[in-house]
Amino acid sequence: MLARQLGLRPKPAGRSPSAWYADCPGKSHRLMVSSSANEFGCGYCRVKGSTADLETLARQRKEAAGKVRRPPQDQQRLTRMVLGAREPGGLSDEMAEW
Ligand SMILES: [Zn+2]
Repeated sequence: MLARQLGLRPKPAGRSPSAWYADCPGKSHRLMVSSSANEFGCGYCRVKGSTADLETLARQRKEAAGKVRRPPQDQQRLTRMVLGAREPGGLSDEMAEW
């Protein structure tokens, strides 16, 4: 199973023995993999293709993550919140007390 080799934690989707859920590479949602058709599809990223394409996608995302070194999602959310508070009128009473 390619998804397992890529570390995408595949799990049976239950609909058919060849239908699997796996982690979307570098994302926090799941995509569908068909082990019989050797195809995958992600409704969130609107990408689909062969399992070879999935491997390419996983490698590209891994390389991109290594280059950009994006902070974890929680940190991004916090940064956005702080930026929002700095905007004129964006500071709520609750935030001001804090
Ligand atoms: Zn995706």
